[in-house]
Amino acid sequence: MARYTGPNCKLCRREGVKLFLKGERCYLDKCAVDRRSYPPGQHGQNQRRKPSEFALQLREKQKAKRQYGVLESQFRGYYKESARRRGVTGETLLQMLEARLDNVVYRLGFAPSRKSARQLARHGHITVNDKRVDIPSFQVASGDRIQLREKSRQLALVHDSLKRMGEGRQVPWLAVDKVNLSGEFLEPPKREDIPTAVEEHLIVELYSK
Ligand code: SF4
Repeated sequence: MARYTGPNCKLCRREGVKLFLKGERCYLDKCAVDRRSYPPGQHGQNQRRKPSEFALQLREKQKAKRQYGVLESQFRGYYKESARRRGVTGETLLQMLEARLDNVVYRLGFAPSRKSARQLARHGHITVNDKRVDIPSFQVASGDRIQLREKSRQLALVHDSLKRMGEGRQVPWLAVDKVNLSGEFLEPPKREDIPTAVEEHLIVELYSK
């Protein structure tokens, strides 16, 4: 599966917001968005033009894609599926992104970033309903139980992440059991419970042209 391997902080600076792609560093004053709050590149500090409607829509889509670590074709696939389903397309799109296994592992606090969560899944450290699942894009459903495999429970990365997470990253649609290193996906999240700062209606407008 193709994936982005370039510098992460550049992506945040391009979008002008913290996308939390690097784990702990994102919460320290080393964060590149805090230090250089202008887009990367030679002309990054000289951009004065008012962005067009298309540019705003495009940026919003890029922001969501980058935050969840999804490439264009897969992201478009999520959009098509969410437009096909009943309900509000933008909300369904975010629900599908939130239900990805790598995102759920990150939200449960077992990894400091979605990128690390993807590695955990890909390396076979995660089970869903007691079956090993090594596909980061696997869609978790209501009632599914996500757990670290027995032999993976000593991983320092997981314990460090849980220690640092505190209460701040917990979301109401997931139940975390920090003792057994497991969690349950209770229900698809409502929009107001998804702590992702994107204007999804702009993404829908972009794709529905
Ligand atoms: Fe983005 Fe984290 Fe880098 Fe800050 S430290 S720019 S939030 S990836």
